[in-house]
Amino acid sequence: MVEEEKKRIMILACALIRDKACIACQRCLMGMERKNGEFERYKDDPAMIAGIIECGGCPGASVVVRMAQLKTWMAPFGEGIDVVHIGTCLMNNCPYKESIIEKVKAKAGVPVVEGAHHFLPADIFAKK
Ligand code: SF4
Repeated sequence: MVEEEKKRIMILACALIRDKACIACQRCLMGMERKNGEFERYKDDPAMIAGIIECGGCPGASVVVRMAQLKTWMAPFGEGIDVVHIGTCLMNNCPYKESIIEKVKAKAGVPVVEGAHHFLPADIFAKK
């Protein structure tokens, strides 16, 4: 399969969590590779994570500008975004998520999926 046939996915992450509590966005990258959680929809519909941007910090006022910046950044290579995913970090923790998701849906111009990977520890101290 040539790369050009894959859907390009952008993930919107929480600025407070990305690379602090969720190191290197490894869960999303692995989630796409293993088609976990909201990435399961790409089992028969090839897709790749093309970019992960963070919200810019509370209260997420620069989300739309950052999406526009990503578009500009990708344009010289003929690349673009086909689907936006709202990151698990943002979905599960952000007190501003309603307004952020509203803005993203109003401005993305492509489908917006609420969620990403589902790798969440449920039993940290459980005896194995
Ligand atoms: S606005 Fe939400 S997603 Fe962005 S840093 Fe604050 S809590 Fe995280």
